[in-house]
Amino acid sequence: MKNSSFRIVPIHTEIAEAARREAEAGASDHAVITADSPGGFPCRHCLRWAQPGERMILFPYAAIAPGRPYSESGPIFVHAEPCARYAATDEFPLEFREGRVLRAYNSQHDMIAAEVANGEGPEAVIERFLQRPETAFVHVRSVSHGCYTMEVERI
Ligand SMILES: [Zn+2]
Repeated sequence: MKNSSFRIVPIHTEIAEAARREAEAGASDHAVITADSPGGFPCRHCLRWAQPGERMILFPYAAIAPGRPYSESGPIFVHAEPCARYAATDEFPLEFREGRVLRAYNSQHDMIAAEVANGEGPEAVIERFLQRPETAFVHVRSVSHGCYTMEVERI
């Protein structure tokens, strides 16, 4: 479903590449894990679930940078091998439509709303958040694990 009001923002390629370098160097906070199930290892760069057997890097990512009340860092996966950054940025990624909570933040990076996208789908929640002028961006996270999935910005 294409839309014209928001854009999906996967993590930057530089962040994925840095994680691969850190893992290669043996950094203690960058674990290399082999996916052993089809729905447990989401790559935040290509925005796809890893297939069993694919190697993934697990590392901490500061979704809200330090120095603010809502600062937050937590574990995310990226593919250990180079992958293509998600490019269909006018479409909410099909593989992450289920099991997500959406959070709206203002320009001070304070959380101003949060909703689980049940039934109506994530696009409707995003549209509603973006209709509030104070919403600066939206974060998508896992309902079950709390991990950061992607950012959504207003076009
Ligand atoms: Zn990937």
